[in-house]
Amino acid sequence: MTDSNKHASSRDPQTRIVQPDDRITPGFESFAVPVVRGSTVVFPNLKAMRDMVWSDDSKWRYGLHGTPTTMTLAQRLAVIEGGDYALLQPSGLAAISNVYFGLVKLGYHVLIPDNVYGPNRDHADWLAADFGLEVTYYDPMIGAGIAALLRPNTKLVWLEAPGSVTMEVQDVPAIVAAVRGRGIVTAIDNTYSAGLAFKPFEHGVDISVQALTKYQSGGSDILMGATITRDEELHKKLKRARMRLGVGVSSDDASLVLRSLPSMKLRYEAHDRAALALAQWLKTRLEVAVVLHPAIADCPGHAFYERDFKGGAGGLFSIVFDRRYSAAQIDAFVEALELFSIGWSWGGSHSLAMPYTIRSMRTASAWPHDGVLVRFYIGLEEDADLRADIEAAMSEAFA
Ligand SMILES: *Cc1c(COP(=O)(O)O)cnc(C)c1O
Repeated sequence: MTDSNKHASSRDPQTRIVQPDDRITPGFESFAVPVVRGSTVVFPNLKAMRDMVWSDDSKWRYGLHGTPTTMTLAQRLAVIEGGDYALLQPSGLAAISNVYFGLVKLGYHVLIPDNVYGPNRDHADWLAADFGLEVTYYDPMIGAGIAALLRPNTKLVWLEAPGSVTMEVQDVPAIVAAVRGRGIVTAIDNTYSAGLAFKPFEHGVDISVQALTKYQSGGSDILMGATITRDEELHKKLKRARMRLGVGVSSDDASLVLRSLPSMKLRYEAHDRAALALAQWLKTRLEVAVVLHPAIADCPGHAFYERDFKGGAGGLFSIVFDRRYSAAQIDAFVEALELFSIGWSWGGSHSLAMPYTIRSMRTASAWPHDGVLVRFYIGLEEDADLRADIEAAMSEAFA
């Protein structure tokens, strides 16, 4: 408790291990952000403990609410998106959940795009079924037409541009303009762009949600999420909810994301180049009916992508196979791929492929295509090998 520790050397070694009298030379400066672990945060005296305010980030309070490592990561994430406040959660889904529990109450109405990240839909359906939330799904291409869906109790509008399976790019500014001035919070799941290519706050969105599990981690080895905002009151609401939910992140995990962050833009650009080239090649293939890549004109909202995205689309896109191929043939194609693995969560160095039946995922908008959709995530393998792998899998499955 005191600096002098004058009785230290007369104590038992066991006590001195628990309460050490370390003499480490200060001033070790490296580029690594130190991993600072801790549940207990020690107060210098009782007054400091009693004066502590749980919401005051200028003072350390308890490990769950932030450590120097996690706070460093939060600040850097805010920098990427041009936000002022960021909060970390233990997964992208936990960040989505934090938005709900921070902002909605019994009887509130929430609007959600029909192509939303699946577990967000499941979360909303759970809150609707068991907690009295009113939920309406809307056509992701609705634009200013969203005004017609607003109710007096509408308090939260989710956006996602593009949707991470069907890739519709929303007219974010039109939606934001249509709901502005009514006490409605807009929250975007901005995972697709990693906060690099699309800047939600420049388009008036209130909260950006990131699954750091994806590009920010880059290693397919971390689960983490973040909420970012420019609005201090919203940040405080989210922070209070997070505290009550009892969720935080470990400094070890945060340090791994901090390590990946400087290379994220270069990785994103590399994924983008390779994915776009593959998507353009797939568009020339007779097996493929539609290529859903935001930078390709087939993609709904392509014009909004051209207008609003600066910095590419990253590694994720989908194709719809010609309808002459059965679902079983598409399954055989995906399983015949050798370099593309079957699995959730993208953003790492390994390529992935996943078939989807979209019609069963929609409730508010028609899906115009008959063929099976396959979503590709293009990792960091050599492009020519990936293309040859797709070609070989098509020959094998469609022979
Ligand atoms: C992966 C993902 C999430 C959730 O992230 P987890 O960390 O896996 O919970 C949320 N939104 C989108 C668009 C995602 O791709």
